[in-house]
Amino acid sequence: MTVRSVVDALDARFPRNWAESWDRVGLVLGEFEHPVNRVLCVVDCVPETVDQALDVGADLIVAHHPLFLKAVSSIAPDTFKGALVHRLIRAGVALYTAHTNADVANPGVSDALAARLGLTGLRPLAPAEGAAAGEGRGLGRVGELPEPLTLAALTRLAAERLPATAAGVRAAGDPERIVRTVAVCGGAGDSFLAVAARSGADAYLCADLRHHPVSEHLAAGGPALLDVAHWASERPWLDDVAAWLRDAFGVEVLVSDVDTDPWTVHANRDDLEIRP
Ligand SMILES: [Zn+2]
Repeated sequence: MTVRSVVDALDARFPRNWAESWDRVGLVLGEFEHPVNRVLCVVDCVPETVDQALDVGADLIVAHHPLFLKAVSSIAPDTFKGALVHRLIRAGVALYTAHTNADVANPGVSDALAARLGLTGLRPLAPAEGAAAGEGRGLGRVGELPEPLTLAALTRLAAERLPATAAGVRAAGDPERIVRTVAVCGGAGDSFLAVAARSGADAYLCADLRHHPVSEHLAAGGPALLDVAHWASERPWLDDVAAWLRDAFGVEVLVSDVDTDPWTVHANRDDLEIRP
Protein backbone atom coordinates (compact mmCIF):
# COMPACT_ATOMS: atom_id res chain seq x y z
CA MET A 1 0.00 0.00 0.00
CA THR A 2 1.15 3.51 -0.78
CA VAL A 3 -0.06 6.89 0.37
CA ARG A 4 -1.52 7.31 -3.11
CA SER A 5 -3.62 4.12 -2.95
CA VAL A 6 -4.99 4.91 0.52
CA VAL A 7 -5.69 8.53 -0.43
CA ASP A 8 -7.51 7.41 -3.59
CA ALA A 9 -9.69 5.06 -1.53
CA LEU A 10 -10.40 7.70 1.12
CA ASP A 11 -11.27 10.21 -1.61
CA ALA A 12 -13.69 7.66 -3.12
CA ARG A 13 -15.23 6.90 0.30
CA PHE A 14 -15.42 10.60 1.27
CA PRO A 15 -15.46 12.56 -2.01
CA ARG A 16 -13.86 15.96 -1.62
CA ASN A 17 -16.73 17.68 -3.41
CA TRP A 18 -19.07 16.54 -0.62
CA ALA A 19 -17.32 18.98 1.74
CA GLU A 20 -18.76 22.40 2.56
CA SER A 21 -17.39 25.20 0.36
CA TRP A 22 -15.48 26.72 3.31
CA ASP A 23 -13.90 23.40 4.25
CA ARG A 24 -10.45 22.13 3.26
CA VAL A 25 -10.16 18.35 2.96
CA GLY A 26 -7.96 15.68 1.40
CA LEU A 27 -4.21 15.12 1.54
CA VAL A 28 -2.47 17.89 3.50
CA LEU A 29 1.09 16.61 3.13
CA GLY A 30 2.93 13.40 2.33
CA GLU A 31 4.77 11.60 -0.45
CA PHE A 32 2.39 9.72 -2.75
CA GLU A 33 4.78 6.82 -3.31
CA HIS A 34 5.65 6.35 0.38
CA PRO A 35 4.51 2.95 1.72
CA VAL A 36 1.71 2.77 4.30
CA ASN A 37 1.89 -0.02 6.85
CA ARG A 38 0.36 1.71 9.85
CA VAL A 39 -2.32 4.40 10.08
CA LEU A 40 -3.35 6.51 13.08
CA CYS A 41 -6.86 8.00 13.14
CA VAL A 42 -7.28 11.21 15.16
CA VAL A 43 -9.85 13.96 15.58
CA ASP A 44 -7.22 16.72 15.73
CA CYS A 45 -3.70 17.00 14.35
CA VAL A 46 -2.02 18.65 17.35
CA PRO A 47 1.38 18.14 19.03
CA GLU A 48 0.00 15.41 21.30
CA THR A 49 -1.40 13.32 18.44
CA VAL A 50 1.67 13.93 16.27
CA ASP A 51 3.77 12.66 19.22
CA GLN A 52 1.57 9.57 19.25
CA ALA A 53 1.88 9.05 15.47
CA LEU A 54 5.67 9.20 15.72
CA ASP A 55 5.71 6.94 18.80
CA VAL A 56 3.65 4.21 17.14
CA GLY A 57 5.48 4.51 13.80
CA ALA A 58 2.46 5.58 11.76
CA ASP A 59 3.00 6.30 8.07
CA LEU A 60 -0.27 8.17 7.68
CA ILE A 61 -2.52 10.20 9.96
CA VAL A 62 -6.21 10.34 9.05
CA ALA A 63 -7.59 13.39 10.86
CA HIS A 64 -11.14 14.71 11.09
CA HIS A 65 -10.37 18.39 11.57
CA PRO A 66 -8.32 20.26 8.94
CA LEU A 67 -4.88 21.40 10.09
CA PHE A 68 -5.22 24.40 7.79
CA LEU A 69 -8.66 25.89 7.28
CA LYS A 70 -7.57 29.46 6.64
CA ALA A 71 -4.89 30.57 4.18
CA VAL A 72 -1.39 30.96 5.62
CA SER A 73 1.66 32.75 4.24
CA SER A 74 4.22 30.74 6.20
CA ILE A 75 4.82 27.29 7.63
CA ALA A 76 7.93 28.46 9.47
CA PRO A 77 8.97 25.98 12.17
CA ASP A 78 8.47 28.61 14.88
CA THR A 79 4.73 28.70 14.20
CA PHE A 80 2.40 26.21 15.93
CA LYS A 81 1.17 24.57 12.75
CA GLY A 82 4.40 25.01 10.82
CA ALA A 83 6.23 23.06 13.51
CA LEU A 84 3.80 20.17 13.05
CA VAL A 85 4.29 20.24 9.28
CA HIS A 86 8.07 20.08 9.71
CA ARG A 87 7.87 17.25 12.23
CA LEU A 88 5.57 15.20 10.00
CA ILE A 89 7.60 15.70 6.83
CA ARG A 90 10.88 14.93 8.64
CA ALA A 91 9.36 11.71 10.01
CA GLY A 92 7.83 10.77 6.64
CA VAL A 93 4.27 10.77 8.02
CA ALA A 94 1.49 11.78 5.62
CA LEU A 95 -1.56 13.72 6.82
CA TYR A 96 -5.05 13.39 5.36
CA THR A 97 -8.27 15.15 6.39
CA ALA A 98 -11.90 14.03 5.97
CA HIS A 99 -14.11 16.64 7.63
CA THR A 100 -17.55 17.79 6.43
CA ASN A 101 -17.30 15.27 3.59
CA ALA A 102 -17.18 12.59 6.31
CA ASP A 103 -19.98 14.31 8.23
CA VAL A 104 -22.42 13.99 5.31
CA ALA A 105 -21.30 10.49 4.27
CA ASN A 106 -23.52 7.47 4.93
CA PRO A 107 -22.31 6.04 7.20
CA GLY A 108 -20.70 9.20 8.51
CA VAL A 109 -19.56 10.89 11.69
CA SER A 110 -23.03 11.24 13.22
CA ASP A 111 -23.92 7.58 12.53
CA ALA A 112 -21.10 6.54 14.83
CA LEU A 113 -22.34 8.99 17.47
CA ALA A 114 -25.94 7.75 17.11
CA ALA A 115 -24.77 4.15 17.40
CA ARG A 116 -23.19 4.86 20.78
CA LEU A 117 -26.66 5.83 22.05
CA GLY A 118 -28.28 2.77 20.44
CA LEU A 119 -30.43 4.87 18.11
CA THR A 120 -32.20 3.00 15.30
CA GLY A 121 -34.11 3.97 12.19
CA LEU A 122 -31.57 6.69 11.43
CA ARG A 123 -32.28 9.46 8.94
CA PRO A 124 -30.32 12.62 8.19
CA LEU A 125 -31.11 15.64 10.35
CA ALA A 126 -30.27 17.96 7.43
CA PRO A 127 -30.29 15.97 4.17
CA ALA A 128 -27.32 16.72 1.93
CA GLU A 129 -27.82 18.97 -1.07
CA GLY A 130 -25.76 19.49 -4.19
CA ALA A 131 -22.90 17.11 -4.94
CA ALA A 132 -23.41 15.09 -1.74
CA ALA A 133 -27.18 14.60 -2.11
CA GLY A 134 -28.63 11.09 -1.91
CA GLU A 135 -28.69 7.70 -0.13
CA GLY A 136 -29.29 8.84 3.43
CA ARG A 137 -26.48 11.37 3.29
CA GLY A 138 -26.56 14.61 5.24
CA LEU A 139 -25.49 16.33 8.42
CA GLY A 140 -26.62 14.92 11.77
CA ARG A 141 -28.92 11.95 12.33
CA VAL A 142 -32.34 11.43 13.91
CA GLY A 143 -33.29 8.06 15.40
CA GLU A 144 -35.23 6.25 18.10
CA LEU A 145 -33.99 5.12 21.49
CA PRO A 146 -34.51 1.40 22.27
CA GLU A 147 -36.78 2.53 25.13
CA PRO A 148 -38.01 5.94 26.31
CA LEU A 149 -35.75 7.66 28.83
CA THR A 150 -36.04 10.79 30.90
CA LEU A 151 -33.72 13.58 29.87
CA ALA A 152 -31.74 12.98 33.08
CA ALA A 153 -31.35 9.27 32.23
CA LEU A 154 -30.39 10.06 28.63
CA THR A 155 -27.75 12.48 29.90
CA ARG A 156 -26.28 9.76 32.11
CA LEU A 157 -26.41 7.31 29.19
CA ALA A 158 -24.54 9.75 26.95
CA ALA A 159 -21.91 10.24 29.65
CA GLU A 160 -21.50 6.45 29.95
CA ARG A 161 -21.41 5.68 26.24
CA LEU A 162 -19.26 8.54 24.94
CA PRO A 163 -15.53 8.84 25.62
CA ALA A 164 -14.91 10.39 29.03
CA THR A 165 -13.83 14.04 29.04
CA ALA A 166 -13.35 16.73 31.66
CA ALA A 167 -16.29 18.63 30.22
CA GLY A 168 -18.65 15.67 30.51
CA VAL A 169 -22.25 16.00 29.36
CA ARG A 170 -24.75 18.70 30.35
CA ALA A 171 -28.37 18.97 29.38
CA ALA A 172 -30.90 21.78 29.06
CA GLY A 173 -34.61 21.34 29.64
CA ASP A 174 -36.86 19.52 32.12
CA PRO A 175 -34.82 16.61 33.55
CA GLU A 176 -38.02 14.52 33.73
CA ARG A 177 -38.95 15.11 30.10
CA ILE A 178 -39.53 11.79 28.32
CA VAL A 179 -37.29 11.28 25.30
CA ARG A 180 -37.98 8.73 22.55
CA THR A 181 -36.63 10.37 19.39
CA VAL A 182 -33.12 11.85 19.49
CA ALA A 183 -31.30 14.06 16.98
CA VAL A 184 -27.51 14.05 17.10
CA CYS A 185 -24.81 16.00 15.32
CA GLY A 186 -21.10 15.37 15.75
CA GLY A 187 -19.24 18.62 16.44
CA ALA A 188 -20.65 22.12 16.71
CA GLY A 189 -24.39 21.79 16.22
CA ASP A 190 -26.01 25.09 17.10
CA SER A 191 -26.64 25.96 13.45
CA PHE A 192 -29.12 23.06 13.38
CA LEU A 193 -31.18 24.03 16.46
CA ALA A 194 -34.12 25.09 14.27
CA VAL A 195 -33.78 21.99 12.09
CA ALA A 196 -33.74 19.81 15.21
CA ALA A 197 -36.91 21.53 16.43
CA ARG A 198 -38.66 20.66 13.14
CA SER A 199 -37.32 17.09 13.09
CA GLY A 200 -39.75 15.70 15.66
CA ALA A 201 -36.90 14.90 18.06
CA ASP A 202 -37.54 15.07 21.81
CA ALA A 203 -33.86 15.83 22.43
CA TYR A 204 -30.92 17.05 20.37
CA LEU A 205 -27.32 16.16 21.26
CA CYS A 206 -24.34 18.03 19.82
CA ALA A 207 -21.30 20.03 20.94
CA ASP A 208 -20.36 23.67 21.52
CA LEU A 209 -23.77 24.99 22.62
CA ARG A 210 -24.07 28.48 24.12
CA HIS A 211 -26.31 30.28 26.61
CA HIS A 212 -28.46 32.54 24.41
CA PRO A 213 -29.14 30.19 21.49
CA VAL A 214 -30.02 27.43 24.00
CA SER A 215 -32.29 29.65 26.12
CA GLU A 216 -34.13 30.98 23.08
CA HIS A 217 -34.48 27.51 21.55
CA LEU A 218 -36.01 26.13 24.76
CA ALA A 219 -38.27 29.17 25.20
CA ALA A 220 -39.62 28.50 21.70
CA GLY A 221 -40.60 24.96 22.76
CA GLY A 222 -37.75 23.13 21.00
CA PRO A 223 -36.37 19.72 21.98
CA ALA A 224 -34.28 19.28 25.12
CA LEU A 225 -30.57 19.79 24.44
CA LEU A 226 -27.49 17.81 25.40
CA ASP A 227 -24.13 19.49 25.10
CA VAL A 228 -21.18 17.09 24.90
CA ALA A 229 -17.47 17.66 24.41
CA HIS A 230 -16.65 18.29 20.75
CA TRP A 231 -13.89 15.66 20.72
CA ALA A 232 -16.15 13.07 22.39
CA SER A 233 -18.86 13.60 19.77
CA GLU A 234 -16.49 12.84 16.88
CA ARG A 235 -14.16 10.26 18.43
CA PRO A 236 -16.67 7.39 17.83
CA TRP A 237 -16.33 7.89 14.05
CA LEU A 238 -12.62 7.06 14.25
CA ASP A 239 -13.53 3.44 15.07
CA ASP A 240 -15.66 3.26 11.92
CA VAL A 241 -13.08 4.73 9.59
CA ALA A 242 -10.39 2.54 11.17
CA ALA A 243 -12.47 -0.63 10.65
CA TRP A 244 -13.09 0.36 7.04
CA LEU A 245 -9.40 1.01 6.40
CA ARG A 246 -8.43 -2.36 7.96
CA ASP A 247 -10.95 -4.19 5.77
CA ALA A 248 -10.02 -2.30 2.63
CA PHE A 249 -6.24 -2.52 2.91
CA GLY A 250 -5.27 -5.04 5.56
CA VAL A 251 -3.02 -2.38 7.10
CA GLU A 252 -2.62 -1.83 10.82
CA VAL A 253 -4.89 0.99 11.91
CA LEU A 254 -4.77 2.55 15.37
CA VAL A 255 -7.29 4.94 16.88
CA SER A 256 -6.09 7.78 19.05
CA ASP A 257 -7.70 8.13 22.46
CA VAL A 258 -5.66 11.22 23.22
CA ASP A 259 -8.38 13.63 24.38
CA THR A 260 -7.83 16.75 22.29
CA ASP A 261 -10.81 18.60 23.75
CA PRO A 262 -9.44 21.92 25.02
CA TRP A 263 -11.38 21.70 28.30
CA THR A 264 -9.30 19.93 30.92
CA VAL A 265 -10.95 20.79 34.24
CA HIS A 266 -14.56 20.63 35.38
CA ALA A 267 -15.81 21.47 38.86
CA ASN A 268 -19.20 21.68 40.46
CA ARG A 269 -19.94 23.32 43.77
CA ASP A 270 -21.55 20.11 44.88
CA ASP A 271 -21.86 16.59 43.55
CA LEU A 272 -25.40 16.92 42.26
CA GLU A 273 -25.63 15.75 38.68
CA ILE A 274 -28.76 17.79 38.10
CA ARG A 275 -28.76 21.42 39.19
CA PRO A 276 -32.33 22.40 40.19
ZN1 LIG B 1 -15.54 18.80 14.71
